Amino acid sequence: MPEGPEIRQEADRIAKALRGKVADEVWFAFPHLSDHACMLQGREVIAVESRGKALLTRFEGGWNVYSHNQLYGRWYVTARGKEPETNRQLRFAVHTAKRSALLYSASEIEVLADEELDEHPFLRKLGPDILSARVRPAAVRKRLRDARFAGRSLGALLLDQGFVCGLGNYLRSEILFVSNVDADQRPKDLSDAQVAALADAVITITRRAYKLKGVTNDPDDNRRLQAEGVPRSQRRHFVFARAGKPCRLCGVKVKKRESAGRRLYWCPACQS
Ligand SMILES: [Zn+2]
Repeated sequence: MPEGPEIRQEADRIAKALRGKVADEVWFAFPHLSDHACMLQGREVIAVESRGKALLTRFEGGWNVYSHNQLYGRWYVTARGKEPETNRQLRFAVHTAKRSALLYSASEIEVLADEELDEHPFLRKLGPDILSARVRPAAVRKRLRDARFAGRSLGALLLDQGFVCGLGNYLRSEILFVSNVDADQRPKDLSDAQVAALADAVITITRRAYKLKGVTNDPDDNRRLQAEGVPRSQRRHFVFARAGKPCRLCGVKVKKRESAGRRLYWCPACQS
């Protein structure tokens, strides 16, 4: 399942086709949205933004199309009118003079005015978006010390979009490794220095994954391995999906276990 960085890259790809362009034609598969389609037609698309794992297509005049892909939804960007080869059902389409952005199979699509965004049941539960440049380490440190979150295991907390949004399973293992803490520890077990290291890693690793298209390993190490011809899958992460392989820092074998129902990878030496 895509995580925050992948959803943001998808938003960037759609924005490239739509931003600053007039939506000549807007279409929804759901009959209750057809009046909205008429209302949105002729408006400029001003932005395409991700909010955690949801996407907002923002139109001039304060209107937004909210979509959440869940497991099956998929966006395609094509030359106008060209349909991709897929057996999926088209659910939402925006056509500009030259391009079409087409959302297939997603079931959660809504049209919302700007002032409704804060009240939306999914959006209002989201913690700060780690990919937003406005979110600083201090805000993450504060949340780790907040009574709502301080007593929960880090393994569960880092997957909770209400704590911070944009993290997912591979980022969780990588963040815990970089900050030298274990998934069973709770924020209240950590020193101020550990909380600071964890908050920094939450931001650094997530933004690195966005910038480097899913790579969380040290950028220099990744480049060195790439130059040696090592495939991406084997140089991409510090520990995630590397069970039995030597830790990149200490050489001890990386281990795998379940944490909060998802697979977790860790180094028993670095994260003791
Ligand atoms: Zn290690």
